[in-house]
Amino acid sequence: MKVAIMGAGLSGLACAKYLEDHGVSPVIFERRHRVGERFPNMEAVMQIMHRPMQDPFVYMSKKYGIHLLPGGIMHTIEIYSPNKKTELTGFNIGYTTIRGNDERSLERQLAKQVQSEINFNSTVTWQELEKDFDKVIIATGDPTISMELGVWNTDTEAFLMGCIVKGKFDLGVSKMWVDQRLSKQCMVYFSPFDVYEASYCTVAIPSSPEELEALWFNTVEELNINPVPGTEFKFEEYKLGRVSTKEIGKIILTGAAAGFVEPFMGFGQIPSILSGVYAAISILTGKSYSEMTAWFDKQYLDCLTIRKYINKLDNKGFDRVVSLVDMPGVRNILANTNIHFVSLAAAAVRARNAIKSPLQ
Ligand SMILES: Cc1cc2nc3c(=O)[nH]c(=O)nc-3n(C[C@H](O)[C@H](O)[C@H](O)COP(=O)(O)OP(=O)(O)OC[C@H]3O[C@@H](n4cnc5c(N)ncnc54)[C@H](O)[C@@H]3O)c2cc1C
Repeated sequence: MKVAIMGAGLSGLACAKYLEDHGVSPVIFERRHRVGERFPNMEAVMQIMHRPMQDPFVYMSKKYGIHLLPGGIMHTIEIYSPNKKTELTGFNIGYTTIRGNDERSLERQLAKQVQSEINFNSTVTWQELEKDFDKVIIATGDPTISMELGVWNTDTEAFLMGCIVKGKFDLGVSKMWVDQRLSKQCMVYFSPFDVYEASYCTVAIPSSPEELEALWFNTVEELNINPVPGTEFKFEEYKLGRVSTKEIGKIILTGAAAGFVEPFMGFGQIPSILSGVYAAISILTGKSYSEMTAWFDKQYLDCLTIRKYINKLDNKGFDRVVSLVDMPGVRNILANTNIHFVSLAAAAVRARNAIKSPLQ
């Protein structure tokens, strides 16, 4: 079986590792000159978004042999709205992860576990690969090819801008702000890389790149951020969406190319890695990739429901949500149980919409 993988990121390398562990050596094609060339930044894996999986890193290691170390273990998330503050604490919250060309990044860790040849600076197209291989995994991290194939549908577009700061930080403490003036309907987040370095990032759905700059300016002023010169990064039009089919002939779409990024908070690392593994299992066993990944379709729709609700909130609404999260029972459910928060919250929003709509 000849397998080509386009993209040496999370889903592509996870797919390669699983295939290799089961006797198939794929050929990997990577557009950049090395693994993890994306700007270095901190991301998060929050257990609350991946329930009923209790610990995604342990799960992936035990079940699929994908062994990854997070950047740090989160024990506290401080959440701020314009007039309220709350804190989720516990040891079931999640992890910070390092991305990009840092030695400790998830993609660099995966690359070390993969033996197959990676062809860097690749300009090969999926059409060319389709001719030479039995299966082609599209793991390119964006929907360009899904669009070319006519199967992509965008639900929302996020813009991100951030930087690195120096200081002395507690690795276990991340912070989040929800405030229209800083990030419109999305958020600003802060996560430490290590004890001496951390990253801030404004995520927003602005009307223009200029508006993103203005929001970032407000964030820097308001939170008193002192960016390390040259570390500011920007990511425009990060498309969050779905595909109408994840398999077309020899092609299997994985990771962000197949919409494995949920549209509530933008978490996509764990679903992307798993999608790569499922693609490999499908190739090795003939099991249906669409069926194996169907759980994510529901998760995606639930997250979209929550996102649409959040998009309508003003700052008073953000204050109300933070006050709700601050109630001891709610905080405990969020931080210390295994209750499937996403489906509960989506059901609550749908029930609210159903009650409201006959009155409108
Ligand atoms: C700024 C930012 C912050 C994020 N924060 C979080 C977070 O906190 N938590 C979370 O869970 N998720 C987060 N995400 C989403 C998460 O990063 C993605 O879901 C995940 O990286 C997708 O994995 P992937 O394998 O699809 O793509 P990637 O890991 O991005 O890999 C794609 C690879 O394909 C290569 N490539 C692209 N085009 C081609 C081509 N034509 N030929 C060959 N190679 C190609 C790229 O160079 C890259 O190496 C964030 C995303 C961004 C952009």
